[in-house]
Parts: sequence; structure tokens; C-alpha cells
Amino acid sequence: MKHPHGLTQQILIAMVLAIILGACAQWIMGMNPWVDVVLNDWLVGGLFFIVGKVFVATLKLLVVPLVLVSLVCGAASLGSGKQLGRLGGKTLALYLFTTAVAISLAMGCAWLFEPGVGANLTSNASVNINQGSSFAQVMIDIFPSNPIAAMAEGKMLQIIVFALLLGMAMNHSGEAGQRIRMNFEDWNTVVLNLVTMLMKLAPYGVFALLFTLFARQGLSAIAELSVYFGTVVLVLLIQALLVYPAILTVLARLNPIMFLNKMRNVQLFAFSTASSNATLPVTMRTVEKRLGVDNRVASFSLPLGATLNMDGTAIMQGVATVFIAQAYGIQLDAMDFLTVIATATLASIGTAGVPGVGLVMLSMVLTQVGLPVEGIALIIGVDRLLDMMRTAVNVTGDATVTCVVAKSEQQLDEVVFNDPDVALVDEDVVLAKGKA
Ligand code: ASP
Repeated sequence: MKHPHGLTQQILIAMVLAIILGACAQWIMGMNPWVDVVLNDWLVGGLFFIVGKVFVATLKLLVVPLVLVSLVCGAASLGSGKQLGRLGGKTLALYLFTTAVAISLAMGCAWLFEPGVGANLTSNASVNINQGSSFAQVMIDIFPSNPIAAMAEGKMLQIIVFALLLGMAMNHSGEAGQRIRMNFEDWNTVVLNLVTMLMKLAPYGVFALLFTLFARQGLSAIAELSVYFGTVVLVLLIQALLVYPAILTVLARLNPIMFLNKMRNVQLFAFSTASSNATLPVTMRTVEKRLGVDNRVASFSLPLGATLNMDGTAIMQGVATVFIAQAYGIQLDAMDFLTVIATATLASIGTAGVPGVGLVMLSMVLTQVGLPVEGIALIIGVDRLLDMMRTAVNVTGDATVTCVVAKSEQQLDEVVFNDPDVALVDEDVVLAKGKA
């Protein structure tokens, strides 16, 4: 039975309230010193700041343990190295494909709408973007020399490699391997339950995060960059509402409406945290429990996707590159377009899904085609809001590819996929209350 005020509705209400109240708070700040103290120091810089940070920390605290135990279980139950190779090949190919589609769409739309023509070049925002590492270094860095350090630093690709190796070794270790595997399976159940528990805090966390953001930032920057902003949002919507549904229907014969309905919570988490990594526990729970994907596929492809597959980010980069070229009056030829597509697709490999990383990747892309990196200052004002939206697309892309790969490997339970009420977080609330 559906809960009348389900978690999704609660998060949505919290979101809308936070945006409205946050924007009002920004408007009245500065009117009266007392109001300023209460709003600025006690609420925006105090209570809500703390609640928001604690909420993101509780999500992040689950990422490393969940990826480790879940992927060890997944790898230990994969039949052979060949099966893993096939799974990895399909997943990577689809991730690259969706990113290439995303960025091509973005550059096409940007070319059509010309967001940068007549842009005001006198931005006073300063750019301080780290350059990414070289390709060789990125490859070397995938392999951990110290798994504990990798976990302590949250290096996702290294954790993935370690978990895969450990799981495969368990598979070859007879009874000893089986005993440890059972232990990891138990851990997996417990950690996933912790995810469910913490998800119930989301309405408060989301309210605090968004109130702080809107009270500080307001919406004025959007007006100046409306064509750029609108173009990015339009392509994000096309990707989420047309491209992914088409992929699900054509490649996997799955109902896209059901998929999008179940992904709503994940998208809301991604939107409010602006981090695919912090959202990962919620993505994994939803894809396994509500979309019916087997742990063998989900535990591998979702952490990989949170790190490598950033379609929404690629969209921002595509539009931003064309925008900056137009703003500086620089012509991009067909070769430049291809370079942007290739660089943006590959740049995502070395950068994790955390807030704002899209700008680091953008600086690599701009350098590749000889555009001024300072151009980033032009778009920085609206980047946080776009970051939130593109992160929602990033996680949707990860889940889409995971479902397609799982279906092709006969690892997707369609009864679960098509059941709208399966494993609702609210249901747990009802059950827990029933038991109490
Ligand atoms: N925040 C995005 C993510 O975590 C990355 C980015 O576009 O900056 O997926």
C-alpha cells in the first residue's frame, strides 16, 4: 500500500519550501541588522548549514563501505573472469555511447541557439581551476598500492579494482572463500538497511541544503546568462526524458515511465547534493531493490558510472565550450567539435562525481581546443544550480545503462521492475511502525 505522504512527496515539499523561503531570506537580508543576525548567523550560517553538512556526510559515510562489500559480493558470485570481461565491456561501451550522444546534442543545440553571441566579457569572477592529471597518470592511479589508503581517500576506481580482485579470489578459494563471502553478504544487507534508514532524513537535509544555497546565492545570475542556462537545461531535459527512455525501450524493452518514476528519489538526492558519489548509496538501493537489477551487475556498474559516466556534465561542457568560443569570437571547426567530444568523454575518467568537478573537466576541454580557460569565469555564476541539475542527469544515465546491461545478461527481475510499490522506503516506515 502506498503511504499517503511518501518520501518523494516530502522531499519535493521540502525542496519547494526551501527554494521559496531561501529566496525570500536573501531578499530581506540587509534590511535590518537584527534580521541579519537571525538569518545570516543563526540560520544560514548556523543551524541549516550544520544540518546540510551532516546530511551529506551521512550519505558519504556509506559510499566506501557499500561499494566495497557490495562489489566483493558481486565479484564473488560472478561465474568467471570472462563474464566480468563481458559485463565490463558492455558497461563501458554504453557509458561512452551515452556520453557521446549527450555532448553531441549539447554542441548541436548550442550551435543552434548561439548562447555566447553578444555575451558580456567583463566578468569579475575569478577562475581558480586545477588542471587534471595526464592520461598515463590516470591509468596508473586506477590501481591501488594500498587498499586502506584508497578507502581512506575515497578513490573509487581503486576501491573497485581491489573489490573485484578480492571477490574473484574468494571465488577461487573453496570453503574459506565461501565463508568470507557469506560474511560480506551479511554486511551488504546491513549497510543497505542503513541506507534505507538514513534516506528518511532526506526531507530535513534537502531543506537545509537548498535553503542555505538560495539564501546565499539568489537567482539574479540566471537572468544575465539566460540563453546559456536555458540551452543547458533544455539538453539535460532531452537527455533525461527522450534519450534514456529511447535507450531503455529500444535496447532493453523496458518501460521508461516506470523507470523514471522510480528514479525520482535518486534524482532529488542528486539535485540537492550535487554529487553522484554522495548519491551512490541511494542509487544502488533503488536500482537493486526497486528496479530489480541483480547485485552482480549493479555493484559493478553503478560505482563505475558515478566516477566515469557524467552525461549531464558532458552536456554542460558542450554548451559551455560553444558559448565561450562565441563570446570570444573564436570559430570552432568540425575537427574542434570532434576534439571536444573526445576530450569531454575521456576527461570524465579521471575525475570523481563530486560537486563542481565539471568545471575542472571543462578547463581540460577548453585547453585542448585552444580556448581561453578564463572563459569559465563567464559561466561560474550559474554553475552551482546547473551542477545540481546535471548531477540528476548523471545518476539517471548510470541507472539506465545498468538496467540495459542487466537485462542483456538476464540479471534483471522484470516483476520487481514493473511493480510500482516494491521496496518503498515509506513501506519500511509502515512495517516498522506495525512491528512496534
Ligand atoms: N557534480 C557532478 C556529479 O557529481 C559532477 C559535475 O558536473 O561537476 O556528478
